[in-house]
Amino acid sequence: MVKVLAILYKGGKAAEEEQKLLGTVENSLGIADWLKQNGHEFVVTDSKEGPDSDFQKHIVDAEILITTPFHPGYLTEEVMNKAKNLKLCVTAGVGSDHIDLNAANKRNITVAEVSGSNVVSVAEHVVMSILVLVRNFVPAHEQIVADDWNVAEIARNAYDLEDKVVGTVGCGRIGYRVLERLQGFNCKELLWFDYTDLPEDKKKPEFKRVDKLEDMLARCDVVTINCPLHEKTKGLFNKEILSKMKPGSWLVNTARGAICVRADVKDALASGHLRGYAGDVWDVQPAPKDHSWRHAFNPLGGGNGMVPHYSGTTLDAQIRYANGTKDIIDRYFSGKDQDPANLIVINGDYASKAYGEREKKASGQKPAGP
Ligand code: NAD
Repeated sequence: MVKVLAILYKGGKAAEEEQKLLGTVENSLGIADWLKQNGHEFVVTDSKEGPDSDFQKHIVDAEILITTPFHPGYLTEEVMNKAKNLKLCVTAGVGSDHIDLNAANKRNITVAEVSGSNVVSVAEHVVMSILVLVRNFVPAHEQIVADDWNVAEIARNAYDLEDKVVGTVGCGRIGYRVLERLQGFNCKELLWFDYTDLPEDKKKPEFKRVDKLEDMLARCDVVTINCPLHEKTKGLFNKEILSKMKPGSWLVNTARGAICVRADVKDALASGHLRGYAGDVWDVQPAPKDHSWRHAFNPLGGGNGMVPHYSGTTLDAQIRYANGTKDIIDRYFSGKDQDPANLIVINGDYASKAYGEREKKASGQKPAGP
């Protein structure tokens, strides 16, 4: 008998009415019966903060932990110290930065995520967010629900995406798909910056690699961030890096909130240096009511395309990451090898190159890439 602990978000009425909301406490990734029929204990909760949370209570003897980036159970080294039985952490989705990966390595805990499960969902959201900002959609829509009509006030800050330069920071599964989807918009240039090269069969003459981040930022009208959060990307978009962006450019971040410095983004927007900032990821989730990004605007009162963290949790994505989570756990129970694409850390080392450039230790690292 194995104890499995899942930290998911509460879906309430929505989850009762829509059972395809699999990532919720109520629908428990659709694996509750399967686990129980096989004699395992399954604890599912949304209570994740502080020493009295269910998370901290049950992590003490759980062998498998399931978390999701949408309602992250932060598995810090301190919490890990209490987790004497923990062997496997499964991220139901993509992005395992809420787990201290270096601490997991020290303790030989395997971390796996359902790679690729929601990359199309996020790439579509990025393209939508770019359009929402560039075309000044949100203030236009707000006029309508406020029974107002003032074309000039909207049009004074609305542009076409055609002929603009767009660049992605990180050109893995999501970044690459964003560029692919932008091909139909006749952008002036589609650029990418990543320390990992694209595989030969994915290279396209219209996707241009830029070797230095600052050089790419200086050329871009729109920047989209699509790299994981790790030691080298935490706070990467600070005042200094933001100042390298073109004045009046737009920034979309669906990767992780903490890649951008909260106050610096707000200031860049308020000064007009950034014309807009959009995304669904926050440096703390759920975002507190007074989070400054909720009310960060450009000097014309627009440029805010923020939403709760949901780009990667469409109903289509939820089926994929729920099935993927079950597969990872099934393989663990039956002693089968995991799909290498899903492994982040295993046997005390990084199995993925996506979480920062680092010296390879024992295990072979799978190259990152689309
Ligand atoms: P991926 O592993 O396929 O690609 C990540 C790429 O980022 C890799 O090519 C890696 O080399 C590159 N990278 C890492 N550090 C970099 C740096 N400092 N500068 C430039 N490039 C760097 O991952 P993916 O599937 O494309 O997902 C990327 C990230 O998007 C995830 O780690 C997660 O944080 C985020 N994500 C968000 C959602 C959401 O719902 N908002 C959903 C899925 C993933």
